[in-house]
Amino acid sequence: MFDIQRFSIHDGPGIRTLVFFKGCNLHCDWCQNPEAHDAQPTIAFYADRCCESFSCEEVCTEQAINRSGFRINADRCTVCGDCVESCAYSALRLIGERLTPEDLMDRVLLDKPYFGSGGGVTLSGGEPTLYPKFVSRFINLCVRNGIHIGIETAGRFSLEKCLPFLEKVDLIYFDLKVLDPSRHEQAVGKGLETILSNAEYLAKNGFPVEFRMPLVPGHTDTEENIDAAIAFLKSIGHQKLHLLEYHNMGEVKIDIIQGKQLKLGLSRYTDESLAAIAHRFEQAGIEQV
Ligand code: SF4
Ligand code: SF4
Repeated sequence: MFDIQRFSIHDGPGIRTLVFFKGCNLHCDWCQNPEAHDAQPTIAFYADRCCESFSCEEVCTEQAINRSGFRINADRCTVCGDCVESCAYSALRLIGERLTPEDLMDRVLLDKPYFGSGGGVTLSGGEPTLYPKFVSRFINLCVRNGIHIGIETAGRFSLEKCLPFLEKVDLIYFDLKVLDPSRHEQAVGKGLETILSNAEYLAKNGFPVEFRMPLVPGHTDTEENIDAAIAFLKSIGHQKLHLLEYHNMGEVKIDIIQGKQLKLGLSRYTDESLAAIAHRFEQAGIEQV
């Protein structure tokens, strides 16, 4: 896990606890959570908070502290987290924590009093379906505790491995991004065929699936892509879509983990341009939710 966010009012009904899994099998050019890409824990460095006290250097037994530039030498760091503990300025943070399903449930149960709002837990990421055994065990615990379960996926998963737990969840948010195969491979990754066939299976077999499309200027909002998304949704008998507006907050995170993701430098949408995109879907009979 790289984060557990409490009291969220997004990503499902009511007040929710969001659990972010680390690790992803896609690599969207516009990823908002670059710290989620790699499944392994890492140390983030916030240069603007660092006062160069170098207490991190005193505790590091691996000589993995750089005196200039990015504070952590990833080639030497074993991600023990000692430097994070030593830093009084919160300039270092451990991103990624190994939990058992039972550990996770103990944390989620702290929020159970708020789930009376119709809320519950939403598994996000990264890509939670990468961990079917863990997710199955955790979802069984949720069922036993009467907790509403949502899951967010980009859809590249093994249906065979994931069906046993998908049959128990109350809500599946399924992202549609780019529908042209070569553009998909370039900007998002391999697996479009699997993604679309999983989407079709869930939609046609009565799963509580809701489709979402992140709107990314020049990437997912082109006429061709919007038309392809409309045609696909119609072909599987689905008439609703959540449109998610792009923001570039993920780009700030690239620096704190010394990530390799390129910064796209895209501007945000105006209200008018968003309305025009929504109108295009609505005209084609796809309701925006
Ligand atoms: S302990 Fe924190 S503030 Fe001090 S040098 Fe290390 S990262 Fe910077
Ligand atoms: S996480 Fe551990 S090994 Fe890595 S830099 Fe910090 S103290 Fe050193």
